[in-house]
Amino acid sequence: MIKLIAGNWKMHGTADSLAEIEAVATFAEKYAGAVDVALCVPATLIHRAADTVPGFAIGAQDMHHNDKGAHTGDISAAMLHDAGASLVIVGHSERREAHREEDAAVRAKAEAGLAAGLQVILCVGESLEVREAGREIEVVAAQVDASLPQGEVDPARLAVAYEPIWAIGTGKVASTGDIEAMHAAIRQRLVAAYGEAGAAVRILYGGSVKADNAAEIFAVPEVGGALVGGASLKAADFLPIVEAGA
Ligand code: PGA
Repeated sequence: MIKLIAGNWKMHGTADSLAEIEAVATFAEKYAGAVDVALCVPATLIHRAADTVPGFAIGAQDMHHNDKGAHTGDISAAMLHDAGASLVIVGHSERREAHREEDAAVRAKAEAGLAAGLQVILCVGESLEVREAGREIEVVAAQVDASLPQGEVDPARLAVAYEPIWAIGTGKVASTGDIEAMHAAIRQRLVAAYGEAGAAVRILYGGSVKADNAAEIFAVPEVGGALVGGASLKAADFLPIVEAGA
């Protein structure tokens, strides 16, 4: 399975960051067919980024589940697609937490994103409290069950990102054993939901992935790539991770 390495810029980046995007696109072109690369930039940059680098996957970080309507400040999947995005992240823990997004809302977004022709990266992950209580598999499996889009899916257009909340932006990384156990549990839920197609959905790891730990993480069974936050902001930090995934 070709790995997907997706950068998540979060609320970082302005027009002068386009040079970083161009550098990643040049690199992605070189490794086309060996690794899939995406950058999920702030919505304000999607249009310019997609225009500057056609053919390279530019993604969004969230979307509204409706097509249009009285939703001040929100953006629909159709609008993201229209702006040039080919991918969207839904259910990131920062949105689940700061915007009180529950599993049902995440599922609605995932379904709307797929229906609009976007590739969807659906995020799940446990808090430190849950992990310390030893309930991480149970909690994440329940999140997966309740947020996966219903019906049939094209595995090429859906990825699940396992991001332990305590590993995001902290420099702490889940152990390879913990990643393996969680990814196996997520795979089981995917197969239960989609049968054969569920076996082909990529499961990404996210949480302090850096150039110096990427190769080790990518060697773990069932790791189909990475969702990278801090280390995706500078091409110089992001490209070695892409290289490790190729
Ligand atoms: P990080 O963020 O790589 O900075 O830990 C990952 C994410 O939140 O997607």
